[in-house]
Amino acid sequence: MIYLDNAATTPVSEYAIQKMLPFFEKEYANPSAAYEMGERAKYALEESRKKIAYTLNCMPQEIYFTSGGTESNNWTVNYAGIKPKSHIITSKIEHHAILNPCKRLEEAGNEITYLEVDENGRINPKHVEESIRSNTVLISIMTANNEIGTIEPIEEIGKIARKHNIIFHTDAVQAYAHIPINVRKSNIDMLSASGHKFNGPKGVGFLYIRNGIKIPPLILGGGQERGERSGTENVAGIVGMTEASMINHKNMKEKFTKEKNMRDYIINRVLSEIPDSRINGDIKNRLSNNVSISFKNMEGPGLVKMLNMAGICCSAGSACSAKKGEMSYVIKALNIPSDYGRGTIRITLSEKNTKEEIDYFLWQLKKILSEFYRY
Ligand code: PLP
Repeated sequence: MIYLDNAATTPVSEYAIQKMLPFFEKEYANPSAAYEMGERAKYALEESRKKIAYTLNCMPQEIYFTSGGTESNNWTVNYAGIKPKSHIITSKIEHHAILNPCKRLEEAGNEITYLEVDENGRINPKHVEESIRSNTVLISIMTANNEIGTIEPIEEIGKIARKHNIIFHTDAVQAYAHIPINVRKSNIDMLSASGHKFNGPKGVGFLYIRNGIKIPPLILGGGQERGERSGTENVAGIVGMTEASMINHKNMKEKFTKEKNMRDYIINRVLSEIPDSRINGDIKNRLSNNVSISFKNMEGPGLVKMLNMAGICCSAGSACSAKKGEMSYVIKALNIPSDYGRGTIRITLSEKNTKEEIDYFLWQLKKILSEFYRY
């Protein structure tokens, strides 16, 4: 099996597993417990918080552990709905974990601006500024898109948000631990991340909330996470996520270069060897591991199934839209011709993929498509 779907999820790093194991087996105490074993669990939690904070250039007390990207995004958007008739600026290509909470707020009488993107999926910061109203309470723009890999102009948007004194949140689920992020430098007030996108376990993530921003908890209970996010902490998961993050940060440059070389190799070969193909997303401002390709008059989900029969895992759009068989809303937002849009697949690499795997994938892809197009 050749795994080319690393934007959907990643395997847990062996090192992270080893670091997690003690918290399942011997060090299983509740971190709120008053005895020594509990204190050790609490210590592991706080060390993790420090390490995550270090990667973002923020303070440990600005990190709140959650169950992942979806929870962190819901927490953020829900906060904005507390004031009646408040206004949120977001984009048409955000993940459903932003769009669906926004939709619910809209139904409850709040106002949402969904910004358009250009043909490469980039948001124009000028449009963000033009959309600000007197009741705007939140700007939420993703750091990088999960389907097309486009990296958004976060620094420029952060500057605008700060100038107007509006909270700026970024969904960094696809970007954190893949590209450097400095929340202070980029004027980011809130940031969502998820462990399973960078070789940590599933069901664990965090929300960074800048000191001074007071948002009500999404989940109430025993008062963990300084009263902001109740529920017994997922100590093993948090430790695993943190260790995976540390490895990624240590090897970031090397990993980026390896993936980027493979990515560009695929892009060049597809465009030069497969007729009626196109690459989606911004070529320059792009995650190192993303290849989103469209083929004229093909059906993405069908192509994914045929590649699966050849032992290759990839997806048509995001994992969430993979099974629905419609053109994805992200691809639609790029305004590319629909006879191309429907025939889209997403390849997302890891630095562990090999040249042999990539050549095998390209060989199978060309074989399937040449039978279809008869070229
Ligand atoms: N945001 C983005 C951009 C994503 O790609 C995903 C997952 O695919 C999420 C949020 C949701 O994260 P999680 O799977 O941790 O709930």
